Amino acid sequence: MNYYILTLFPEMMEQTLHTSILGKAEEKGLIKIQAVNIRDYTKDRHQKTDDYPYGGGAGMVMQAQPIYDAYLAVTEEIGYRPRTVYLTPQGPTFTQSKAKELAAEKDLVFLCGHYEGVDERVLEEIVTDYVSIGDYVLTGGELPAMVMIDAVSRMIPGVLTNEASGMAESFEGNLLEYPQYSRPFEWNGKKAPEILLSGDHRKIEIWRREQSILRTKKYRPDLLQKADLTIKEKAVYGVNDESAGRSV
Ligand code: SAM
Repeated sequence: MNYYILTLFPEMMEQTLHTSILGKAEEKGLIKIQAVNIRDYTKDRHQKTDDYPYGGGAGMVMQAQPIYDAYLAVTEEIGYRPRTVYLTPQGPTFTQSKAKELAAEKDLVFLCGHYEGVDERVLEEIVTDYVSIGDYVLTGGELPAMVMIDAVSRMIPGVLTNEASGMAESFEGNLLEYPQYSRPFEWNGKKAPEILLSGDHRKIEIWRREQSILRTKKYRPDLLQKADLTIKEKAVYGVNDESAGRSV
């Protein structure tokens, strides 16, 4: 997967995206992250990339031309128009299923807005997906782009050393993951659940499934409506269409 991040602040990406699991994935050639500095494409002699909003109001608006030319430089390099994500609080909220969907692409472009946002006309021209990372307003799209790249990359085969860990995490089947424990067996007067040391994999699986359902019911009752539960599980854990969406 090749990521192209159109940004005014490429230095923000440097440290974060090239370390840890993503850094290793880059070394293995599974992903490639390229920050494209929008300012390099301005035709303004003072290197300006923003201007006052037509109609008045606070703040500045990122202009269409430098963004479009930065985007064209990417499309010329790869030879086609790839899916292009505009990070915006106005988009549908990013989800694990969207991460999986985007992980199937060969190239992805991310456009990071700043200030009051971006001239609408260039968005109409290049954006295929509008995505928000939550109902709050940030100063720029760089952090959201990094959040998305992290989540998408984990879904690319080979990025996680243990493939299974990407498949059995929170939001799979619309359930949260069960609680995790490690050594020592007793810490601060609290013991880890005995069953996890029993060596009985079937019983451990049943216990984890139960914990997942209870945890989802407690913290994310809204997810339960969509969860993959058997009829028996629905009855045992008191889950029905009415209870989903209500706190317990
Ligand atoms: N004026 C815009 C509005 O009210 O919708 C908000 C602009 S915001 C201050 C600047 C930039 O940050 C946006 O263009 C977008 O790229 C990014 N941004 C802010 N909040 C975001 C969020 N929740 N999800 C994704 N991107 C966000």
